[in-house]
Amino acid sequence: MSIQSNLNTIKESLPEHVTLVAVSKTKPVSDLLQAYEAGQRIFGENKIQEMTEKWEQMPKDIQWHMIGHVQSNKVKFMAPFVSLIHGVDSLKLLQEINKQALKNNRTIDCLLQIYIAEEESKFGLDENELNELLTSVEFKELKNIRILGLMGMATFTENQNQIKKEFTHLKSIFDSIQTLKTENCELNTISMGMSGDYQLAIECGSTMVRIGSSIFGGR
Ligand SMILES: *Cc1c(COP(=O)(O)O)cnc(C)c1O
Repeated sequence: MSIQSNLNTIKESLPEHVTLVAVSKTKPVSDLLQAYEAGQRIFGENKIQEMTEKWEQMPKDIQWHMIGHVQSNKVKFMAPFVSLIHGVDSLKLLQEINKQALKNNRTIDCLLQIYIAEEESKFGLDENELNELLTSVEFKELKNIRILGLMGMATFTENQNQIKKEFTHLKSIFDSIQTLKTENCELNTISMGMSGDYQLAIECGSTMVRIGSSIFGGR
């Protein structure tokens, strides 16, 4: 199957309120261009250097999403162009993003990553840390970031019930923070679901799916 037909099949299966992020990490620019020519304008990468190199080479009407774990000292490289940072998991990182956004005279949209899996390796905030962050004085002072919502990754398992439980948990956390909204929050996005579980994620309330291998093939 071609990238174009994979993309079209997935797009047809998505409800209108769900945004597709085409996860192009490790794939060559020629593959990304095929998706671009098929109409895709949102691409997700998990390494800042790789994303920056692709941004330089690709058409400029693309929205670049950083979906990987972000190190504070590398934020400056993507601050001029990144469209949405999915994996924000600390106030310290938010402060650095805010600082670099200010330097570039812009606002950078972010999602807060929530730890929902039963695995040691996944990054993210727990519910208490999230509430603490959103209600802190330091957070309210950040004028050059905007929190659009939450992002989460389910446990890597075949057990659909477990995945469903984790996605439902993320949705309930998302609903519970609506009352904590401050001026730098919009809270309209739940980024959850990948190639293997995006249909389930949508059933559980996802508004943004991050799909790589089902579009571009295995890595
Ligand atoms: C790689 C990656 C994806 C896409 O995974 P696929 O299984 O290839 O669809 C989604 N989200 C994150 C955070 C990733 O790192």
